[in-house]
Amino acid sequence: MLYFDTHAHYDWEEFNVDRSELFDNFEKELCGLVNIAINLESAKKVKEYANKYSYMYFSLGIHPMEVKKEISLKSIEEIIKSEIKNKNSKLVAIGETGLDYHFNYPIELQKKYFIEQIRLANKYELPIIIHSRESQGDVEMILRENVVKKAGIMHCYSGTPQESKKFVEMGFYLGVGGPVTRYKDVQETVRITPIDKIVIETDSPVLPPEPFKKHSRNNSLYLKYIVKKIAEIKKIPEEEVINFTTQNAYKVYGIKN
Ligand SMILES: [Zn+2]
Repeated sequence: MLYFDTHAHYDWEEFNVDRSELFDNFEKELCGLVNIAINLESAKKVKEYANKYSYMYFSLGIHPMEVKKEISLKSIEEIIKSEIKNKNSKLVAIGETGLDYHFNYPIELQKKYFIEQIRLANKYELPIIIHSRESQGDVEMILRENVVKKAGIMHCYSGTPQESKKFVEMGFYLGVGGPVTRYKDVQETVRITPIDKIVIETDSPVLPPEPFKKHSRNNSLYLKYIVKKIAEIKKIPEEEVINFTTQNAYKVYGIKN
């Protein structure tokens, strides 16, 4: 059984030196990898990678920390439209979108883009990938007022274990990455979440798991450290964690295997 990295950003410059070498190496270890677009430029690149590698897929969207640039969703929608017509499209989701209150990005604009991307996801019947940092209450409110047709992934879930239950009840999968090797709250969330609602992700190049340094470069080969930690928390074999999380990833992204 191979790993499925449900969330990564290989278009970022951190990978300029060895991107294609890494992509070749991943072929032996991964059965799936979704590159997540954060803006229009990024959208074009992730689409291009997915066309080159059979195990690679992509999402389209505007990250809450990118909305300040006032990018129009129209161009993103144009790409979605042409992908929808293509039978062999590797587009599997909308996002990442959501709310980030950690830094000072304009909140009203973030909300506007978030709601617009929920509409896009519903219109084209795609799951949605949600980024939420220090904003769980507002994310929950928006999701209750703007119900998603296809629940997607609460990516790199960092809210309280208590709040996580609400998102699972709404049908979302929880994305578990490097932070599970460091933080007690994330470990508790994993403990109380059914394994059939968990997917694994690296969020490469950021958020490497232990034993790697917090601000070193992450990559999808480190998924094994995340799997190891989940297996330890859930007291099940690592093989079972890989098996479930890969099947969950296929399911949430609607990929036939
Ligand atoms: Zn991300």
